[in-house]
Amino acid sequence: MSQIINGKEIAKKIREGVAKEVAELKLKKEIMPKLVVVLVGEDPASQVYVRMKEKACKEAGIISEILRYPVDLEENKLIPVIDKLNSDASVHGILVQLPLPKQINEKNILARVSPSKDVDGLHIENLGKLLKGENPDFVACTPSGIIELILSTGTEIKGKRAVVVGRSNIVGKPVALLLLQRHATVTICHSRTADLAGACRQAEILVAAVGKPKMIKGDWVGKGAVVIDVGVNRTDAGLVGDVDFEGAKENASYITPVPGGVGPMTIAMLLKNTLIAAQKAPR
Ligand code: NDP
Repeated sequence: MSQIINGKEIAKKIREGVAKEVAELKLKKEIMPKLVVVLVGEDPASQVYVRMKEKACKEAGIISEILRYPVDLEENKLIPVIDKLNSDASVHGILVQLPLPKQINEKNILARVSPSKDVDGLHIENLGKLLKGENPDFVACTPSGIIELILSTGTEIKGKRAVVVGRSNIVGKPVALLLLQRHATVTICHSRTADLAGACRQAEILVAAVGKPKMIKGDWVGKGAVVIDVGVNRTDAGLVGDVDFEGAKENASYITPVPGGVGPMTIAMLLKNTLIAAQKAPR
């Protein structure tokens, strides 16, 4: 039987730490950390995420502003918005809520955000530094939150066989790079992987970032594996992860629940990145 990794609790501690440092920054340097979230369109999940981010900022003493634009906004109208935020010294972090509507090229917009304000860690320069093993200004929030969750179990990552299922730019690839940086032996699986079950069974650390409800079966989890379930799938039975939690917990040593695992960490890491941006900002 496994132990449940309480992402909510771990995230709460990080948020409290951030709130303390934000208060100090205000007091000692009169810097008011500020995050601006750019939201284009009315995607219901994005609306929820943005509201959660706003609430979390408020609790940590971070100023947050949401810039809302209609779904038919053209790319050439969004670019000057980003440019203005880049040059506004009172703004420390910029987050463009994804997905963007079809007419806007996501790559162009993410590349436009100044790397020093890229608190989502998705700018090509920050991702490139991660690839080269250099220290990026910011690491993407979900991947860095996943590493925190693994570390919270006391598991040493070095030398472990880690399997990441999913190769997206926002989760799969960066988390694989972070695990590699910490000297795990990393396998990245995806939709064309032959014998996915066999690959998963080899994992001592298993990260599932697929977006398919309960796709990873209990008997795909090796005895004693640490299982991190990134999936957020809305089903008739409510929110479920990519891992069959009930089955997997029989074999795993530690496992994250959905909800209450990775999700809260993503927001906590966003607050931490915004604090870092404010601490590093030129005065
Ligand atoms: P993407 O859809 O961008 O990527 C999914 C990945 O899963 C792809 O690499 C895809 O492979 C792979 N995949 C799809 N089907 C299979 C299959 N049958 N077998 C093996 N691999 C498969 O998703 P994201 O990375 O953005 O997100 C993954 C999940 O994590 C989603 O549920 C999302 O909601 C959740 N998420 C949660 C966050 C949180 O804070 N909790 C934050 C971000 C995401 P291929 O590349 O070959 O197509």
